[in-house]
Amino acid sequence: MAKEKRDLKINKGTKKENTTKKGMGLSTKIFIALLVGALLGVGIHYGLPSGYFRDTILVEGILYVVGQGFIRLMQMLVVPLVFCSLVCGSMAIGDTKTLGKVGVKTIGFYLVTTALAVMIALGTAYLINPGIGLDMDAVQTSEVTTAEATKLTDTLLNIIPKNPINSMANGDMLPIIVFALFVGIMLAKLGSKASVVANFFSQFNDIMMEMTMAVMKVAPLGVFCLIARTFANVGFAAFKPMLKYMGNVTFALVIQCFIVYQILLFVFTRLNPIKFIKKFLPVMGFAFSTATSNATIPMSIDTLSKKMGVSKQISSFTIPLGATVNMDGTSIMQGVAVVFIAQAYGIPLTMGNLATVVVTATLASIGTAGVPSVGLVTLSMVLASVGLPTEGIALIMGIDRILDMLRTAVNITGDAVCTTIVSYQEGALNKDVFNRE
Ligand code: ASP
Repeated sequence: MAKEKRDLKINKGTKKENTTKKGMGLSTKIFIALLVGALLGVGIHYGLPSGYFRDTILVEGILYVVGQGFIRLMQMLVVPLVFCSLVCGSMAIGDTKTLGKVGVKTIGFYLVTTALAVMIALGTAYLINPGIGLDMDAVQTSEVTTAEATKLTDTLLNIIPKNPINSMANGDMLPIIVFALFVGIMLAKLGSKASVVANFFSQFNDIMMEMTMAVMKVAPLGVFCLIARTFANVGFAAFKPMLKYMGNVTFALVIQCFIVYQILLFVFTRLNPIKFIKKFLPVMGFAFSTATSNATIPMSIDTLSKKMGVSKQISSFTIPLGATVNMDGTSIMQGVAVVFIAQAYGIPLTMGNLATVVVTATLASIGTAGVPSVGLVTLSMVLASVGLPTEGIALIMGIDRILDMLRTAVNITGDAVCTTIVSYQEGALNKDVFNRE
């Protein structure tokens, strides 16, 4: 079983490398689509007189249909992608029982840092208020769902699905996650007895990943239409909150990467954080340019072992696991996005809603695969968990590529910090190698 898993990881690794090149080309295309779309939108807003052609045919016709079509394609992926990815992820977690202490510690660390990351995201978002000033009512024509106040007890109980198939049909993400975790853990427990089903989910997961890649290919067109429609409707008013949103995400990512992680590293190991950052910077650069945690796995393991003295026995387990389930940067983006979208639509969030966001964004981090843009797909599940309109993703989609690069660098740094701490505590870290210049 463990060997099978390793084979799976290796297969995934090579596949990601193939897609990396495409991903980079795609990043540029999306970025261009974003700029040109924004310019066109501004041009339409200020240059074209309001009337049947501009409003009905162009903005609410072509741009709306193509943009929404792309969003629907993304939504189509959510349930099967999250389910399979979580079954596979929790299968890996189920295996960690055999790895005893290291596994439990690692998973504990991953969950705590992710929850912390979401809290930092929410905290900074309520300081910066990125969505205030953007009137989404001007853009929104379809129905807006308002956040319903559900009792905390019901929220808790609703996590357990009465009927998992029903939850999937309704797209209720929390019960889907619980069921997927159960399936994955049982598959790990049954080992070779359930290898057919285990392989089925791994392969279905691969299919969903391929489908995500395929959908992402039309992303430039989708982004172009979505952003052009946004700017055509609101003009320059959209720039400021978007810049605020980007600044907010970046600010929270910097706090997590250069303050939270480094304090944790120092407190648990007394190792020099500056040295850690210096030595790990090239790996962060690689993650930044590819926006793919998975492709960074080999480089991360190599750097940790050669430059930091971390035992490969530990890192070869914790780094791939982290690249699959630990996405602190992604959960930061999702936390800020929730506040941004809530403010843009003028929907207030209760303390209960915020607690739900901490839980769902942490779980979404487990369900987010380490490839470009998946964080945006799982964001819709976080939004849905507090009743926010998933159409809000349209606003941030265009600028997400840049943030994807930044958050991927943070995602893999979290894995590396955890690996270094666990290695140190297990007596599997060579300090001489770490301190060497
Ligand atoms: N690109 C991210 C990663 O690979 C995942 C995401 O947030 O979309 O870590």
